[in-house]
Amino acid sequence: MDKIKTFDREHVWHPYTSMIHPLKTYPVESAKGVYITLMDGTRLIDGMSSWWAAIHGYNHPVLNAAIEQQLKKMSHIMFGGFTHEPAVDLSQLLIDMTPPSLDKVFLCDSGSVAVEVAIKMSFQYWQSLNLPKKNRLITVRNGYHGDTFYAMSVCDPVTGMHHVFKDVLPEQYFADAPGCAFHEPWEEKHLDSIRRLVQAHHTICAAVILEPIVQGAGGMRFYSPEYLKRLKALCTRYDLLLILDEIATGFGRTGEMFACHHAGIEPDILCLGKALTGGYISLAATLTTDRLSRVISEGECKGFMHGPTFMGNPLACAVAAASIRLLLSRDWKKRIQEIESGLINGLSPCRSSHRVKNVRVLGAIGVVEMKEAVDMEKIQEAFVRQGVWIRPFGRLIYTMPPYIIEDRELTTLTEAITRIVCQES
Ligand SMILES: *Cc1c(COP(=O)(O)O)cnc(C)c1O
Repeated sequence: MDKIKTFDREHVWHPYTSMIHPLKTYPVESAKGVYITLMDGTRLIDGMSSWWAAIHGYNHPVLNAAIEQQLKKMSHIMFGGFTHEPAVDLSQLLIDMTPPSLDKVFLCDSGSVAVEVAIKMSFQYWQSLNLPKKNRLITVRNGYHGDTFYAMSVCDPVTGMHHVFKDVLPEQYFADAPGCAFHEPWEEKHLDSIRRLVQAHHTICAAVILEPIVQGAGGMRFYSPEYLKRLKALCTRYDLLLILDEIATGFGRTGEMFACHHAGIEPDILCLGKALTGGYISLAATLTTDRLSRVISEGECKGFMHGPTFMGNPLACAVAAASIRLLLSRDWKKRIQEIESGLINGLSPCRSSHRVKNVRVLGAIGVVEMKEAVDMEKIQEAFVRQGVWIRPFGRLIYTMPPYIIEDRELTTLTEAITRIVCQES
């Protein structure tokens, strides 16, 4: 185990870390259900679902079986000129569960690529209509859309972790982050900032892109469905496409299957990822409408110009289809509501700490926002000592546990958070 730690520290990059002063990493032996077992034997209750992904927990017999069965047939085959049952099966499921106007599916490698694909679709759409000048984007502050270049260009310029690249990124238009919290009464003024941008720049913009209802890595903020409804109307009125990035929010996490269901609206383009395969392997999907796909296909290129090597990977598609069926076979909505209640009750004592700015819960997402940034490494160690896996960033201590978590395990999670938040004060 020491050999692994040492080699890792000297040679292996981890997300957003220094190679000179790397943050501490914990070697993992295995994971099953909601438990992660470290190589030193420590067992941790998972509070992160491996970044929104492992909704059914780890090492699930149904998902394992799906992947093993597919493995015996073929793990991969090129998608140019070939198709296969797992891709068709998964696409059918996605079309059935997403808003009705979305019926064309582009399967790709990761969330960031799904965002690139969405942006390219929006550009190609206007180009095909002989409006090539419509090639900029409008978004909101505090967003996060991934780490590739165009995705970075619509991440929050400050909290988005990419300001070092600002000179080489295409410049986009940023409205204020949605100012109306999820449960707050709606006021028309909350639309002012984005309405101004839309009115001023719609002739040179292709689309508005944002995360519906929950802004994830850019600040863990929950905003009003009314904002999304009004924004959709603005987009329609001013000829802008609406791209919704549901990579974090999709598959039940916010209490609805997709966060756009809270607002009852349909985007022109939808990005899915993270929980798509139940956290098993990287896979993402970009869905769009019949209309968009037709316009793009009738344009100068006669097709959509993207095609990754591992497009439609059969193993990933098979496990994604199994994960979706597993989700649909349960009363997932009730379970998310129960987790929501557990988080609300369990995290409410945090409000009494003077170091806490805000506590908020939506669906199976619980957030404790501190007034000041926490010492990630130190607080992570404290969580591990309490037997839970919570990975804070900046001022945010948050949890989005696997849906299979039991009530007593959820209590252990929220007690650990409460203890650490209140102890530290
Ligand atoms: C994680 C995330 C992405 C990027 O997905 P990757 O698979 O990490 O490339 C994009 N958008 C949102 C909202 C995300 O949460």
